[in-house]
Amino acid sequence: MIIVLKPNLDQKQYENLTMWLRNMNLELHESDGLYSKIIGLVGDTSAVDTDLIGAMEIVESVKRIHEPYKAANRKYHPLDTVIEVGAAKIGGGNFCAIAGPCSVETEEQICGIARDLKSIGAQMLRGGAFKPRTSPYSFQGLGVDGLGLLLKARAETGLPIVTEIMDLSQLPAFEDIDVIQVGARNMQNFQMLKELGKVRKPILLKRGLSNTIEEWLMSAEYVMAGGNGNVILCERGIRTFETATRNTLDLSAIPVVKELSHLPIIVDPSHATGHAKYVEAMSLAAVAAGADGLIIEVHNNPTAALCDGQQSLTPEAFRKLSGKIDVLRKSMA
Ligand code: PEP
Ligand code: MN
Repeated sequence: MIIVLKPNLDQKQYENLTMWLRNMNLELHESDGLYSKIIGLVGDTSAVDTDLIGAMEIVESVKRIHEPYKAANRKYHPLDTVIEVGAAKIGGGNFCAIAGPCSVETEEQICGIARDLKSIGAQMLRGGAFKPRTSPYSFQGLGVDGLGLLLKARAETGLPIVTEIMDLSQLPAFEDIDVIQVGARNMQNFQMLKELGKVRKPILLKRGLSNTIEEWLMSAEYVMAGGNGNVILCERGIRTFETATRNTLDLSAIPVVKELSHLPIIVDPSHATGHAKYVEAMSLAAVAAGADGLIIEVHNNPTAALCDGQQSLTPEAFRKLSGKIDVLRKSMA
């Protein structure tokens, strides 16, 4: 971190600042320019508040040289993280297709779609038991019973389960779940992220509706700082002025995240676009951009779905898309 001080600075304030920085176990490299003094800070600056320093009377400007996240940073962990869930692998060149309905509705529905998806080649099953709905009058999910149905679908097909936790009080019920999803609305639920850091299961961390890539990586850092390095990032579209799609899929997040972090990144084209008809194009674009996987909503009968039917593919459409993904991936190898 570099701090540029104002010319003609107050000596007392300068001494207070340098003492404060040294007390944080930082080494100070000071150099005098023609007009101003510059302090280079060496050491772990992750806990240093740049806004606070920038607001000091004697400070002209302050700049971080390194990103504020460490565990998630590719600089310190150059190799791709590969996350294994049963037979599935994500990251480091391993591609993972996760598919399933927005929400678990009945045993027939979830077990039926799980069988179809398994036969098509999906590697994991998604399905919400606890649903974050905008309206309190919409279907809220089957809760713990829904988790039980997901486990039945896993017992039948062997597909690992990905499902969303909405509140920490639900954590004990996730004991047998393979991958815990943190939804977009909870990306900055720091208390939840801290607790998930103590869990030894992969965490699928969706990007918040209005969050920057750095904020997203800082949320991953919360989980990792707690000791759980198994974080899968999921780009699911961000809020923009555009209304033609539900969100705007930020495909450029894929190469950016890959440069900044070693964590795998997958894409959710269903919540990103909000329309089944756009899911294929965005899935292929995500694969072309280097995504490590996709999480796609697929429903046995989208028109009768209790949640997000408009953006759900039929099993047939998913089969067709999976064939195109295979061809695309082979052409990129
Ligand atoms: C979901 O995947 O079911 C979901 C609610 O997604 P998001 O948190 O991205 O809106
Ligand atoms: Mn959904």
